Amino acid sequence: MAFESLSDKLQNIFKGLKKKGKLTEKDVKDALREVKMALLEADVNFKVVKTFVKSVQERATGHEVLESLTPGQQVIKIVNEELIKLMGDSNNELTYNKDGITVFMMVGLQGAGKTTTSAKISGNIKKKGKKPLLVACDIYRPAAIKQLQVVGAQLDVPVFTMGDNHNPVNIAKAGIEYAKNNGNDVVIIDTAGRLHIDENMMGELIEIKESLKPQETLLVVDAMTGQDAVTVAETFNEKIGVDGVILTKLDGDTRGGAAISVRSVTDKPIKFVGMGEKLTDLEPFHPERMASRILGMGDVLTLIEKAQESIDEKQALEMERKLRNAEFTFDDFLEQMQQVKKMGNLSSIIGMIPGMGQQLKDVEIDDNEIYKVEAIILSMTKEERANPNILNPSRKKRIALGCGRSIHDVNKLVKQYDQSKKMMKQFSGMMKGKGKKGMFK
Ligand code: GDP
Repeated sequence: MAFESLSDKLQNIFKGLKKKGKLTEKDVKDALREVKMALLEADVNFKVVKTFVKSVQERATGHEVLESLTPGQQVIKIVNEELIKLMGDSNNELTYNKDGITVFMMVGLQGAGKTTTSAKISGNIKKKGKKPLLVACDIYRPAAIKQLQVVGAQLDVPVFTMGDNHNPVNIAKAGIEYAKNNGNDVVIIDTAGRLHIDENMMGELIEIKESLKPQETLLVVDAMTGQDAVTVAETFNEKIGVDGVILTKLDGDTRGGAAISVRSVTDKPIKFVGMGEKLTDLEPFHPERMASRILGMGDVLTLIEKAQESIDEKQALEMERKLRNAEFTFDDFLEQMQQVKKMGNLSSIIGMIPGMGQQLKDVEIDDNEIYKVEAIILSMTKEERANPNILNPSRKKRIALGCGRSIHDVNKLVKQYDQSKKMMKQFSGMMKGKGKKGMFK
């Protein structure tokens, strides 16, 4: 889970502070020494850590904090504010060319996630009602062109290619021409990376940039490489100039050093973060929401946005009605799981629920579990799904054989279903008693 280890450490330090009640200057200094260690262990740039701790210390050891009724809370509030400041105050959206085609040029090292992110961004832009075109200029990495075509097709976004025998500058130019002739208003150029920064790559990127004059040059870096990601960002920015950074694989980055340092070191905003391999796993970067996640306070706003994006309101209302009347079937169970799946990977969703990340930190959350349950339900007949009471041992055996799971797994699912139904009945009884209209209102 993103930031998991840093978040755990900070929460423990703050728990100690809150327990103390009254705080002395020494208490705050001791706690901040621990915060400093935690940040360094999270691979945050050491200069950034030094400045951060200094600003918190200056603000947190004043009378108004130490003598307040809740000094522990005040210190946390200051840490939160300083973290937000470090990561850039507010969200930076993509900007568009007002008259004519907008070109976004994607740059970064090989394996950082450039191709995947180009596609994710095109999907995002398409949802806003624009007509993106992906242009395949990565002529060096084997299969990069094919990969872009595959992901483009999944999103129903057109992909312009000329194979790997042409100069990338010419491909990019022809791509823009194609966009003009085909009504595409945003062009996303997937350029070639290299395993390491080298002069050839930079030369090629400078040439493409000078000839296309993109609206934005977006640098894709892998969060899991920690400080290396920050160094890469510094170098790209110096050599070719970037407008924004996209931090990928934050879902697997338990430390978080790059996310916290990039802005401060390069003075360029993080615009998006990649939270998984799926094409929907891209989130706009909001410093205040990220700080809240780091401090274990969840991120309810992103959760709501995700739900709004992926859950059909009509279906949600119908589900609510069924749940209230305790009449939901295995088909409903399946539908609900599919809706949740659309929201992204389970561990990142759980991390957004305030307090849940810490509570579930030792629980192994396996996204595959959802697929297993899905397979069992799909192996049932329509009649069985609608009326689970008919599930006798021989039917269960057939279902288990059909989906390659054990009878024990089938029994476990039926039991879970029965329990949820029972709970729903009790719950709806309580709600009716109180005269409440709906459970989500
Ligand atoms: P490129 O060489 O920079 O074009 O990299 P790719 O787009 O091919 O990505 C390299 C690998 O990283 C692929 O396996 C992607 O699925 C994976 N990847 C990209 N973004 C993310 C992300 O945000 N989270 C995770 N977990 N994997 C990602």
